[in-house]
Amino acid sequence: MAQVNSCCQLVFLGTGAADWPPLGKGEPFPQPQAYRRNAALLVDGHILVDGGPFVLESLAALGRPAEQITDLLITHSHSDHYNPAQVRALAGLRRPTPLDIWYPAGVRLELSSYAGIALHPLRPGDTANPPGYSVLALAANHLVETSDEIALIYLFQGAGWRWLYATDGAWFTARTWRRLCTEPPFDALIIDATLGEVTDDRRIFEHNSLAMVRRIAAVMRRYGMLRPGAQVVLTHLAHETHLPPGELIKYDGDEGWRAAFDGMELSIPCQ
Ligand SMILES: [Zn+2]
Ligand SMILES: [Zn+2]
Repeated sequence: MAQVNSCCQLVFLGTGAADWPPLGKGEPFPQPQAYRRNAALLVDGHILVDGGPFVLESLAALGRPAEQITDLLITHSHSDHYNPAQVRALAGLRRPTPLDIWYPAGVRLELSSYAGIALHPLRPGDTANPPGYSVLALAANHLVETSDEIALIYLFQGAGWRWLYATDGAWFTARTWRRLCTEPPFDALIIDATLGEVTDDRRIFEHNSLAMVRRIAAVMRRYGMLRPGAQVVLTHLAHETHLPPGELIKYDGDEGWRAAFDGMELSIPCQ
């Protein structure tokens, strides 16, 4: 029997879409039963995926040292995912090497000082290389109206393991889907579920509803794209379309997926 190890340790720094209001002064974070902060993820303590306006507060509140972050992967430049002031502050922390920033080519980074920062623009099909990782960037079905960038989803890959972080976006583009079909099975799928059970929202062309996630997961399982036991985890959940986090969590597992919550830790197993 193959030995199962843990390949990646993930911490969800935020699991909300952009419509969650900021916390008031003095309000605690995280509030896993009641609140979601803008979606962001920490991988193995040193790779940050997305840096929205409160990401440094989230790291501090969850006891994750920001100065240990070596790499920042940006999915796209909507303000809930990329905040230049936060990134400048992150880059300015005492660190042995510059902060490597991997981002969709065309993003206006608005970084006034490049000291302490190493920039790596990505196009779909490119690979980001944080130390010890290979991260394939693929086009998301998502639009940033104010720039020429192509929003990205990221496939983290290593020897015998891979998992996909796919937010923001609706479905997959045809080209991204074809590429995903060529990859070995995934150990986890973390996916945009912004719209919940709402199916007639205009954002459905750039964000998933639960009905869409059900179809995506079902097809991926049918064609062996998810390893047996692979977790499907929902993130980027809108305030207006979902039950409160503490209610939604009661449905975990009913349909083969679970909803992430702020502060949630997830171990990705590998064979
Ligand atoms: Zn977003
Ligand atoms: Zn977005």
